Amino acid sequence: MFDIIIIGCGVAGMTASIYAKRANKSVLILEKNNYGGKIVNTMDIENYPIESHISGYDLATKLYNQIIDLGVEVKYEEVISISNNDIKEVETKENKYKCKSIIIATGSTNRKLNIENEDKFIGKGISYCATCDGAFYKDKNVCVVGGGNTALEDALYLSNISNKVYLIHRRDTFRGDQILVDKVKNTSNIEIIYNSNITKLNGNDHLESIIINDKDEINLDGLFIAIGQIPNNNIFKDIINLDEEGYIISDELCHTNIDGIFVAGDNKKKELRQLVTATSDGAIASYEAIKYLNK
Ligand code: NDP
Repeated sequence: MFDIIIIGCGVAGMTASIYAKRANKSVLILEKNNYGGKIVNTMDIENYPIESHISGYDLATKLYNQIIDLGVEVKYEEVISISNNDIKEVETKENKYKCKSIIIATGSTNRKLNIENEDKFIGKGISYCATCDGAFYKDKNVCVVGGGNTALEDALYLSNISNKVYLIHRRDTFRGDQILVDKVKNTSNIEIIYNSNITKLNGNDHLESIIINDKDEINLDGLFIAIGQIPNNNIFKDIINLDEEGYIISDELCHTNIDGIFVAGDNKKKELRQLVTATSDGAIASYEAIKYLNK
């Protein structure tokens, strides 16, 4: 029996474990992939307090070493269900664990276009992370698809590396911040293509061109897909309240609708999804779980 089981070993989950362990609670983190979550794909983090430049991998590794040194137990097992009794059960593909409280920190994954050949060209012309893979497209022609802050930032980032950047958006107004929209519009090697959807991906071993709106072909070397995130909350939907986009609804203190179950990180309904808010959520969720256990 654990005091707290944390589902997800990203920055939110790892931060939660620090607070739990330092409060002398027994804590287990369950993670289906690798430690670090999405941040490991970020080449250079410049907006995290104290560190003016650090790669996502280095930051995640430092944090991981910190929790291991503290004695936090991490098991690499995929959670398939949780129960909402007083003594809670967390079931993975391999085992069942009992605990008194749960922190859900499962993050989100990149939304896909869901068109033919998308998976085939991942790493062969298709990327979901401009800061990770942009350098491969030096002086080449690339395309970014999406209309939010990520797509706008990706287009700007790539405009400094690549020869030409097409920014394809399905509407004629952007969802992202006006300041970024203005910057994109003022960047000479970015061409915005409005009211357009990518309908076909062409190439043999590598992506060579895309078709938009079933008719126009654009030849390119790389396609960066930045069309938002999907929260990893599907397995909780029967007992935890989600909003219409699938994010977990909580109060300011990371309480879900179930007593003793908390949420932290990108899978939580909130305005700003950043490293600093993920770590903040982790601390708050853990503090609230500790209070719940001490009641
Ligand atoms: P968003 O959800 O904000 O935007 C997704 C974009 O992709 C929208 O423009 C949407 O179009 C478009 N889209 C969605 N599905 C499809 C599809 N199937 N085909 C084509 N286009 C599609 O995601 P982001 O990743 O941009 O941002 C996520 C969050 O992170 C936001 O809150 C954002 O503000 C924040 N963020 C903040 C940053 C910063 O502060 N510097 C940097 C990056 C992100 P439509 O508009 O028509 O729905």
